Amino acid sequence: MARRKKPQKKIEVDRFRCAYCGACVAVCKFNANELVETFLVIDEEECTLCMSCIKACPMRALAVKEVA
Ligand code: SF4
Ligand code: SF4
Repeated sequence: MARRKKPQKKIEVDRFRCAYCGACVAVCKFNANELVETFLVIDEEECTLCMSCIKACPMRALAVKEVA
């Protein structure tokens, strides 16, 4: 029987909601996100999915997304 692959998750940014305020960057203890010009970039290798940034975002622009 084939082993089922574990579902992978990542933090997804809604670019239409994000106001580039930097609150999520300030709260991330793992330096896993960064504002690059007008984009929030999340380093999936560093991100621990701790969800601190989701809670900190005033625009509700962040969410956990399952990746196939
Ligand atoms: S806290 Fe929310 S609105 Fe602010 S930069 Fe991060 S994702 Fe964008
Ligand atoms: S989920 Fe946690 S580790 Fe990942 S970017 Fe947000 S605050 Fe940083």
